[in-house]
Amino acid sequence: MLAGRTALVTGSTSGIGLAVARALAKAGARVMLNGSRTAADAEALRAELAASTGVEVAYTQANLAQGASARALVEATIAAFGSVDILVNNAGIQHVAAVDAFPDDTWDQLIALNLSSVFHTTKAALPSMKARGWGRIVNIASAHGVVASPFKAPYTASKHAVVGFSKAVALEVAEQGITCNALCPGYVRTPLVEKQVADQAKVHNLPEDRVIREVILAAQPTRQFVEADEVAAFTLFLCSDAARSVTGSVQLIDGGWTAR
Ligand code: NAD
Repeated sequence: MLAGRTALVTGSTSGIGLAVARALAKAGARVMLNGSRTAADAEALRAELAASTGVEVAYTQANLAQGASARALVEATIAAFGSVDILVNNAGIQHVAAVDAFPDDTWDQLIALNLSSVFHTTKAALPSMKARGWGRIVNIASAHGVVASPFKAPYTASKHAVVGFSKAVALEVAEQGITCNALCPGYVRTPLVEKQVADQAKVHNLPEDRVIREVILAAQPTRQFVEADEVAAFTLFLCSDAARSVTGSVQLIDGGWTAR
C-alpha cells in the first residue's frame, strides 16, 4: 500500500511509535526511526525491522526537544531516502504533578517536545510533501487533546495545542494532496504508562492491578488498555489513499473515554 513512500516516525524506538513504524514498514514504506536509545540498541532494532519487513530502515538519534535537532532529523530523512512523504509526530513525555508544584524546567521540556517539535518537523517536512503533491501528517495527540485530567495541566495543554496545530496545517495544505490529522488515544500500555502505574501505586498504596482498574482505567469505559497495534492500524489507514479526504480531523481511539 505504501511502496515507494518514505515515513519518518518520531519517538519510534518504543511503545506507540515503534508499533506505527512497524505497521508502515510492513505496508512497504521506507522508515526513518528516531528515539533516545543507545546506538547499539537502535542498530539492533533497525536491523530487525529491516529484516522482518524487507524495506529500507534507518535510524537517527535526535533530541527533539531542540528545534535544530528536530529540523536536522527531517533533513537526515530526506538525505537518506530522498523525501519525507509521511510524518508521524509521536515523540512525547508525561509528567504528573499539581500546577503549583510543577517544575519550571519540566514544563519547558514537555512543551518543547510535545508541541514545539511538531512545529519544527512539520515546517521542515512540508516542502518535500508539496514538491511531490502528496503527504500525510499524523500527530499523535491524546484523549488529553480534547478533555483534561487534574495534575496533567502541561500535558493537557500540549495535546490541546497539537490538535489546534493539526487543524490549521490541514487547512493550509488542503489543496496540495497533503492531509494532517490528530490521532487521540486513550490509555495505551507502553513504558510511558507503566511508569504512571508504578507512581500511582505508591501514591494510592494499592497493588498495580487495582491501580490499573480503579485509577488509570477509571476514565476508560472499556476498562481495557488500547493496544499500540490498534493505534498503528489507525495511523496506517490515515496514511492510505482511502483516507485522502480525512484531514483536519480529530480521531479518537479511547475506549469511549471522551463519550462521557
Ligand atoms: P514511550 O515512552 O513508550 O515512547 C516515547 C518515545 O519517544 C520513545 O521512542 C522515546 O525514545 C522517544 N523520546 C522521548 N523523549 C525524546 C526526545 N527528547 N527526543 C526524541 N525522542 C524522544 O511513550 P508512548 O506511550 O508510546 O507515547 C508516544 C506518544 O503517544 C506520546 O506523544 C504520548 O503523549 C502519546 N500518547 C500515549 C498514550 C499512552 O497511554 N501511552 C496515550 C495517549 C497519547
